[in-house]
Amino acid sequence: MSTETFRFEIGKLELRAVSDGMLTYAPPTFPPPATLLFANAPTEPLEEALVEHNLESEKWLEWTSPYICLVVNTGDHLVLVDTGAGGLAPTTGRLLPNLKAEGIAPVDIDTVILTHGHPDHIGGNTDAEGKPAFPNARYVMWKDEWDFWTSGQAEQRLDEHVREVLLKFAHENLPPIQGQVDLCDRETEIVPCIRAVAAPGHTPGHMALEISSEGKQLLCISDVALHPIHLEQPEWYAVVDFAPEQVVATRRRLLSMAAAQKALALAFHFPFPGLGRVLQKGEGWQWQPMETTG
Ligand SMILES: [Zn+2]
Repeated sequence: MSTETFRFEIGKLELRAVSDGMLTYAPPTFPPPATLLFANAPTEPLEEALVEHNLESEKWLEWTSPYICLVVNTGDHLVLVDTGAGGLAPTTGRLLPNLKAEGIAPVDIDTVILTHGHPDHIGGNTDAEGKPAFPNARYVMWKDEWDFWTSGQAEQRLDEHVREVLLKFAHENLPPIQGQVDLCDRETEIVPCIRAVAAPGHTPGHMALEISSEGKQLLCISDVALHPIHLEQPEWYAVVDFAPEQVVATRRRLLSMAAAQKALALAFHFPFPGLGRVLQKGEGWQWQPMETTG
């Protein structure tokens, strides 16, 4: 299987999970992975959960996360979900070459949906000259999210250790799209078959998406869970989660939805292509990666 692009279908929709590359999270830039991802986890249950995933906190020194964007061809619209990290690291910014390899040029994209304003999700909004990288697109973002990053709230409310890089990316990638952005503040249809789902917590206006056709669903959860262990332990939040209590409530709502609908789910940071199903397991859930062989 290619680790750059994965094609699949939901009803009559043609979809592609497209990699923007990956980033390795490790000290000293980031806390060790177990602290970064499970900031409030009690020691013993954490060790047990890690062992089940063949990990040990003491030996788990770095976490390499893929960045997985999504392209949806509805027939009437060519939609991109998230623009990747651009030049955040030498290992990111693969989105445009990977789209090109699929015969998709930036001018072909008519809708860009941004799940939230973190660097790995908006970093490809603009080109080297600071102009919108998708010149013909309507960009769509949740209103609270746009306001957070563009009206001075982020400057005041972000933790010091992450503030600089987050603000740099927001300043470079949000104001330039102002003339093309459409803000939504309720769970509305963005284009036919793609519906906004409020998913606040990871950031103030984090947005998930419900993509449906012919009775089939894809729930694009973006950063509602960063690691499969977050399904089993929905109370464990990450250092990078903005509002922990909201994260937990949002997680419970979305994972319940995915399990009840037997929907396919797409998680931006899970192993490529980030697709799988959410199974109920006791009080929590479990991630079942989609079979992608062949
Ligand atoms: Zn992310």
